Amino acid sequence: MERRNFLKASGLTALALGMGSWTGLFAQKRLPRNWAWGGVHENMSDDELLKAFDRYKSHGIDALLPEGNNAFYARISRLGKKAGIEIHAWRWTMNRGQYIRDHPEWYAVNRKGESCAGPNPPYVNYYRWLCPSQEEVKDAIVKDYIELCDIPELSGVHLDYVRYCDVYLPKELQPKYHLVQDHEMPEYDYCYCNTCRRLFREQTGIDPLDLEDPASNIAWRDFRLNQLVRLVQAIVEEVHRKDKLITAAVFPTPAMSRTMVRQDWPKFGLDAYLPMLYHHFYGEKESWIGQCVKESLTELPKGTPVYAGIFRGALKTADLASIYTMVKENGGMGLSFFTADSLSDTDLKILKRALET
Ligand SMILES: [Zn+2]
Repeated sequence: MERRNFLKASGLTALALGMGSWTGLFAQKRLPRNWAWGGVHENMSDDELLKAFDRYKSHGIDALLPEGNNAFYARISRLGKKAGIEIHAWRWTMNRGQYIRDHPEWYAVNRKGESCAGPNPPYVNYYRWLCPSQEEVKDAIVKDYIELCDIPELSGVHLDYVRYCDVYLPKELQPKYHLVQDHEMPEYDYCYCNTCRRLFREQTGIDPLDLEDPASNIAWRDFRLNQLVRLVQAIVEEVHRKDKLITAAVFPTPAMSRTMVRQDWPKFGLDAYLPMLYHHFYGEKESWIGQCVKESLTELPKGTPVYAGIFRGALKTADLASIYTMVKENGGMGLSFFTADSLSDTDLKILKRALET
């Protein structure tokens, strides 16, 4: 029922946007006004949790995306329900180190033949990317989200790292790794595992390792985009079967996402999208946040809720209200803050005021 109401509210919201009115919809309370990642932690007492929930909720953040294990989610979902705030389980999708010991063969392999399960994963030690083409990988990931959905008061699941390893890092991060990524470098180009090679060969007769310029081969590019879409859609199906919502933190625009991390998110079929519009990573001004929202909406079904993920630490307090307005003017539903913990009382007051005007 919850999902149906949410979808219904999404459609109504699109209609209401045209009429310039939000009030009636918020009264129906199905679509969060704003979200935030984090915000509560396992070492907090029930009283502290309720206090934190009230602080966020009363300032216009209706949904939190905390990290934790399933027992923690069960506890905070129950308390969240009491406080009237939605809890969505923030769980990484493709970047997971937990299977390395038992199933090293599940991990993605780059064009040089190096596995993410090996001693030198790409960029950072916690980059342990799974291959989306392997059935066993899909089954393990789907099962993990199903178990989360068995928590009665949990509102939904939130996917993150739902992509391949970065083919290109954001412009401003490349110098940090002493890289100039002006082409697809083989060490960051995934996945060339036996399963991916076999499936692509069955479709096209070509072994991708034989391609002279794999980056320019549209069939190979699309194959990999679609393998991930297929996996995400399998998660969506099961989450919806459990009547829960499913959202994701995705890269800035669909075009950037496909190029940078092989993430074709408009095809995922999620209930809402929270693109991470961290402008400072890309050397962009704040106005870029609104442009990204607008561009994303052109590829999504009409009325799909998009919330601008903003990096609180990269913004001036004084700019919060204007960013909120800009996102709304470009068709976004609201904001998602990275992170809830970084929001000061002043920030929350500004947000509340922006919602009321
Ligand atoms: Zn593979």
